[in-house]
Amino acid sequence: MIRFDDVTVTYEGAAEPALSGVGLDIPEGELCLVVGPSGVGKSTLLGAVSGLVPHFTGGLLHGRVTVAGRDTRTHRPRELADVVGTVGQDPLSHFVTDTVEDELAYGMESLGVAPDTMRRRVEETLDLLGLAELRDRPIASLSGGQQQRVAIGSVLTVHPRVLVLDEPTSALDPGAAEEVLAVLQRLVHDLGTTVLMAEHRLERVVQYADQVVLLPAPGVPPVVGTPAEMMAV
Ligand code: ADP
Ligand code: ADP
Repeated sequence: MIRFDDVTVTYEGAAEPALSGVGLDIPEGELCLVVGPSGVGKSTLLGAVSGLVPHFTGGLLHGRVTVAGRDTRTHRPRELADVVGTVGQDPLSHFVTDTVEDELAYGMESLGVAPDTMRRRVEETLDLLGLAELRDRPIASLSGGQQQRVAIGSVLTVHPRVLVLDEPTSALDPGAAEEVLAVLQRLVHDLGTTVLMAEHRLERVVQYADQVVLLPAPGVPPVVGTPAEMMAV
């Protein structure tokens, strides 16, 4: 579902590449974790999947990244929007409407989904994420964990085959983080969604992963393995 063939990304003016020699093969319906300390290129790797790199952040991408067979360099992010849903680090910056229900509908509106389908998918997503009781609430009045679930829901209504999340639990307390991780696990198991998630604390999330990509240092090729293999490293 996601392939990296010898990918190197170098930002303009940088002496060293932010990402170097990355080869990856992530099958459909797996949860893949991207771990490593701050500044090693986790967001850059995620951005190469969603198309933010190079289209919105700049940077020179060598090699090839494909998602569901589409080359992310030759497709603009909006041409990938039906395949890849992206949730950034800060859910608040993600929101474009006021209420939970409007936010869930927004992505579909911009893709021209029919009104009946939109209504059905909003209901289905409210149920899936446990947000039904919050549907009319202003997003600003919700807790961090609830906001993160709304951010995830707003991309899920599009039914993306791939969900990309940049440290979705980093701002959450342990309880709220568990809530979000449980949602992701359900997506993978029940819907066969492929999830690519960056995280800097391996212990917290490793139990949920099928594959782990460890970026040890900036510009150093990743170590890739199963959670059991990586815990032994
Ligand atoms: P991480 O997500 O692991 O913290 P990033 O991918 O954000 O790492 O950053 C990797 C390196 O690339 C860092 O040195 C960062 O400063 C640099 N970088 C990230 N985004 C940009 C950008 N848009 N322009 C220039 N340099 C960037
Ligand atoms: P439509 O595609 O017309 O909206 P449905 O809402 O009935 O039709 O969804 C079609 C199928 O997609 C159902 O089997 C449903 O379980 C599944 N589905 C629901 N949510 C998601 C999702 N977030 N991603 C992918 N498939 C999903």
